[in-house]
Amino acid sequence: MPPVRLIRWELILAVLVFSIGTCPRAAEPSPVPAKRPGIAIRGIYGGVPSQIFDRGRTLDDYGVNAIWIGSGSVDRERVEGLKARAKGLKVFVEFNTLHESSYLKDHPDARPIGPDGQVAPPPDGWQGVCPTHAGYRRSRMEAFRRILRSAPIDGIWLDYHHAHASWEQAQPNLPDTCFCTRCLSEFEREAGVNLPDATTAERARRLLGADKPAWVSWRCGVFTDWVREFRTILDQERPGALLGTFHCPWTEVEHNHALREKLAIDLKAQARFLDVLSIMPYHARFGHGDDPAWISRQTAALGRALGIRGQPGERIRIWPIVQLSDWGEPVPRAQVRDILDQGTRPPATGVMVFVWGSLYPQWDKVEAMGEFYRAIRP
Ligand SMILES: [Zn+2]
Repeated sequence: MPPVRLIRWELILAVLVFSIGTCPRAAEPSPVPAKRPGIAIRGIYGGVPSQIFDRGRTLDDYGVNAIWIGSGSVDRERVEGLKARAKGLKVFVEFNTLHESSYLKDHPDARPIGPDGQVAPPPDGWQGVCPTHAGYRRSRMEAFRRILRSAPIDGIWLDYHHAHASWEQAQPNLPDTCFCTRCLSEFEREAGVNLPDATTAERARRLLGADKPAWVSWRCGVFTDWVREFRTILDQERPGALLGTFHCPWTEVEHNHALREKLAIDLKAQARFLDVLSIMPYHARFGHGDDPAWISRQTAALGRALGIRGQPGERIRIWPIVQLSDWGEPVPRAQVRDILDQGTRPPATGVMVFVWGSLYPQWDKVEAMGEFYRAIRP
């Protein structure tokens, strides 16, 4: 009965207080993080964490209430099975928007073009796609619709929704694209700018010079319009499911305004169509291995930029994805608590860890994650 339990806990507490008071040299207990009722989502990104089940444990044992799986893993039986196995589990899906490089094999005209008029080689192997290729866009929208129809998922997250670039590292590689004839003529028509009748290289010089503000604004508009269409499809196919995006963690001014000017990401404009922004502050990967507080600084800056405070009832939420896996730089087990602490500070109202496939072989970090998630859950 509850009253009996309360009395027992009071007694235990009294004994503990007495013990601590009378044993000044006793070792300091390791601090247990306080509950964080504002954090609704404690997630794992990167597939079904079946290794937890293999150990005879449950997701609840690790405080996990959400997982992100790849689009290719989505089918009704699987999603329903997961939800039956873990009560209250949210199953979200990651969706590749502008990095589906297999499309280029049969559609070489969708390759991004550089300012010299030539095909832009994939920076560090990261192959993007021209954002105005109508066939590519249609194929991605159809895939998006199919996924939403195929299973009772709780939401879908856009991934790689940016221009041809390799930015997930300390020193980004950010070529200027796409100067294909299709992009340039759409720009002229939609932005009302007449480019000189000249070579692509000469036109690109103007677009990166005198006409840069109009060019950047138009390019951001193209990427935002993809988000608008994804929203329309989601509302048609699975109203109530969440639309999220995984996005670059830089502020608009960092890296010479690269967020808008290179990646073509205008988060303020995209936010109209989104429910959740999953900023990607991979501290170790991005050269902040000794400074996990960078995670909460970037998240706070995003909140200030978009007017999101992490209060109950806000329409747009921020759920950072934080790095526990070794990628670029190792992430020590001793840092796990600090990383999750930084990742769950306001305006964040949820968090997930990157990335299950390379995290579970380091089981001590999984245990540390579970310890934190269990402690903060309401
Ligand atoms: Zn193009």
